[in-house]
Parts: sequence; structure tokens; C-alpha cells
Amino acid sequence: MKRKEFLQLGSSLAVGSLLNSFSGCNDPKSFIPTTNWAGNISFSTGDIVIPKTSDEVINLIKVAHNIKAQGTTHCFNRIADNKKQLMAMKSMNKVVELNKEQMTVTVEAGMRYGDLAPYLHENGLALHNLASLPHISIAGSIATATHGSGVNNGNLATAVRSIEMVDGTGKLIVLSRDKDEDAFNGAVVALGALGVVTKVTLDVQPAYDIKQFVYKALPNESLYSNFESIMGAAYSVSLFTDWQTDSVNEVWVKTRTDGANSFSTNDNFFGARPATRDMHPIAANDAVHCTTQMGIAGPWFERLPHFKMGFTPSSGVELQAEYFVPFEQGAEAMKTIAAMKNEIGPHLYISEIRAIAADDLWLSTAYKRKSIAIHFTWKQETEAVMALLPKIENALAPFSPRPHWGKLFTIHKDILASRYERMNDFKQLALRHDPEEKFVNDFLTETIF
Ligand SMILES: Cc1cc2nc3c(=O)[nH]c(=O)nc-3n(C[C@H](O)[C@H](O)[C@H](O)COP(=O)(O)OP(=O)(O)OC[C@H]3O[C@@H](n4cnc5c(N)ncnc54)[C@H](O)[C@@H]3O)c2cc1C
Repeated sequence: MKRKEFLQLGSSLAVGSLLNSFSGCNDPKSFIPTTNWAGNISFSTGDIVIPKTSDEVINLIKVAHNIKAQGTTHCFNRIADNKKQLMAMKSMNKVVELNKEQMTVTVEAGMRYGDLAPYLHENGLALHNLASLPHISIAGSIATATHGSGVNNGNLATAVRSIEMVDGTGKLIVLSRDKDEDAFNGAVVALGALGVVTKVTLDVQPAYDIKQFVYKALPNESLYSNFESIMGAAYSVSLFTDWQTDSVNEVWVKTRTDGANSFSTNDNFFGARPATRDMHPIAANDAVHCTTQMGIAGPWFERLPHFKMGFTPSSGVELQAEYFVPFEQGAEAMKTIAAMKNEIGPHLYISEIRAIAADDLWLSTAYKRKSIAIHFTWKQETEAVMALLPKIENALAPFSPRPHWGKLFTIHKDILASRYERMNDFKQLALRHDPEEKFVNDFLTETIF
């Protein structure tokens, strides 16, 4: 941004490169970063603007040539990178309105789930689901179809009732599920390609409690022959495996105490045995960062994520990739990956397998397809992992895998397009909202346009 323009836009906007050297903060990941969360991507510019209001977003977009919104930068690829300019949404982080009649909450786009959740709970309300970590921004998460688990739970974007965004022409647009069905379905999971989202209205429901149980060593044979029953055994079920033995390392079962998808605890869960202490998904790691287990009931937002808000989630220094296949083919797809265990093993920390309900959002990884997501948390060995991904993608090809938009993948854009019925419609929608390609970055050029 030119100095003159910066001054014109007022003192509430700051250039992030100045903040990058700020050292008075204890959490190195809480200020404007020069890299993504995992540190495997260095952002291509230090020109970062930080709006505080929708009006500031409008002004910034009007003068920008090319700009990319950033949430909490937890993606593992260059989806949130840009060569020219970045717009950090971290200061737009407040609740705008709670509407108990409509059962909705409206928030600014940069708010994190971990900050919204306690507020909702204090008001006797809840969201339908959360991802494995609460640290991620709401707009950044819905843009990539971020998800938790549960055969009847859509991803986090399915809770969106309406969005407000500033498109590439600088126009403020509101799209709602009820009034603008088609355009809305194209605009929620939008990879930042249509505009900068400024506000999001989400469905809420009465608050509920959850008990979390962990089981160890689920025999693969039992899993494959009872796949549907196991994945649907409770409100949310996750499998953790390193693929190295004839059993799945851990099964995390999250059950609501209010009767919805209730689960009776058992000493024998399809051949797996109950853990006798809190576990980390990587069994060798300390579970101190993990949400409470052992069947102790607690609020939804302290049980649905695997990791607590105040701590580093997952392994920390890592890479991630994830592929979504049709639910009915989940067991077959898992067998395919298990057959690659010798190649995968040396580079993998852990895999997680989750279920996601089908939805109508055009670029959602679960679009019209109840899905099983096969996730990989890799050691940060970029070269080896990037060499392995095409092999995994080829092996999974019979299941038409859709990759997580925010994680690593190498699938060619033509193949990706063939796996999304509404891809052409999405491109048209993007052209309408962003005729000058202000939001197109290298990631979008390589994967969509
Ligand atoms: C430890 C860890 C665990 C994870 N667990 C899960 C999990 O359980 N489930 C899952 O599905 N994913 C998971 N992820 C991936 C993560 O949830 C997604 O990558 C998510 O998109 C990150 O949100 P963010 O706010 O950091 O987005 P960013 O990385 O900042 O941005 C992602 C995209 O959103 C766009 N964007 C951000 N804000 C806006 C805005 N206001 N307007 C328009 N576009 C915007 C960006 O331009 C970019 O295209 C995990 C990641 C990590 C690091």
C-alpha cells in the first residue's frame, strides 16, 4: 500500500510488518505472523492491513490491486498467502448480536470459535459442532469447510445462516440461506475468492453437555465389519491410527448427555478396551493439552475439540493433509491406506478418521456426499510428504477423494473440478463478485482458476 493511501485510511489501520517485530507478547503465535501456524509457509509480503470495521474493509478493497484476507493462518498450504497485500481480520473479533428468537448469533469474521463458545455457553446456547481445536477464526474456517466429526453433523460452514462480505468492487453484500439459496450455497465455502467476509450469522441451539470416552486398540477386522455402527455410535466419533498394527490406536467417543445420539459406555467397544487415563491422540504425548475424558460430563465447547484453548494443539511442528471419500466406501478407503503403511509410517505422527454429514455448499468437501475424512498429521518433512501425497491420492482415486482446502494436496485442478459438480458455477460467481481478480492468489490460480 502506498504511504499516502495508508494515511488517508486513518490510524486504526496498521501495517503488519511493523508489528512483526513486536516482542512484548508471550505467545509468539498471537501477533501478526510472518508464517502460517505450522511455520511451513512464509508469507510472501509484509504489507498487512488490519481493519476494525466493515467500512474500513470497503475502503481498503477499493484501493487494493490484489489482497487476501487472513484469519488465524492455521492452513498448511498457500491458500491464505498473497504476493501483494494481506488483510488480517484479527481485530474484527466481537459478537455483534445474539438473537434468541431466531436462535442465531452474529459475529465479526475474525472471531475465534474459542472466544465465541464460552460467550454462547454463558447465554445457555451452543454450536452444533467444533473442529479439533478452538483456536481458528470463524470466517477462515467456513471458507475451507472445516469440520469436526459425527455422522449427522455437517461441517462448521453448515451452521452459517447468513454472511456479510465486501466483494471485489467494494460493495457490501449480504447473502442468506433463506433468501438467496443458490448464491448463498456458492458463497459460504469460498476459499476467500469472492470477497472479504466481515460478519457471519450462525445457527445456535440450547447448550448441552458431553461426556468423552477413549477406547484403545480397536481391531481393524472389527472396524471394517462394523464401520457404520462404530462411526455412528455417538454424537461424534474419531478414530486415531498410525496404520502400523492390526488395530486402530484410539477411538474418541463424544456423547451428548441430553439423549441426542446417546451412547452407553461399555468395557468392550467392538473389541476395543477403555483407556484408564486421559489420552493424547499421539499416545506418547502428554494429554495435558487435551480436553477432559474418562466420561466426565462437561460443556459442549470443552469436549467437542480434542485440544484445550489455552494450549498448543496437536503436535506443533507438523504438516497436515486430509481426503474426503464417500461414507459407504470409508472402510475400503481405510484398507487402501493401511496397505501403504510401510511408506507412510516413517513420516507420520498420526491419522484421524471422522464422519461428516452431506451438505449443499458448492465447494464443501461434503457437498451432496456423506463423507469419511482420512486425515494425516505428518512430521514436518516437506519433501518426503510432498512426494508421498500423489501416491496416496492415486491410491484413493477410485473413491474420488476431495482434499481439505486448507491442508496439503497435489491433485490437479482439472481432476478437482471433476469432483465438484458446481465448480463452473462457482467460477462464474467469483467472476461476478471479483471481476478484477483482486482476491486471486497463486493458490486459487493453481487449484481453481
Ligand atoms: C493443529 C490444527 C488442527 C486442525 N484441525 C482441524 C479440524 O479438526 N478440522 C478441519 O477441518 N480442519 C482443521 N485444521 C485446519 C483449519 O481448521 C483450517 O485450515 C481453517 O481454514 C483455518 O482457519 P483460519 O482462520 O486459520 O484460516 P486462514 O488459514 O487464515 O485462511 C483460510 C482461508 O480463509 C480465507 N479467509 C480467512 N478470513 C476470511 C475472511 N474474513 N473473508 C474471506 N476469506 C477469509 C483466507 O483468505 C484463506 O483462503 C486444523 C489446523 C491445525 C493447525
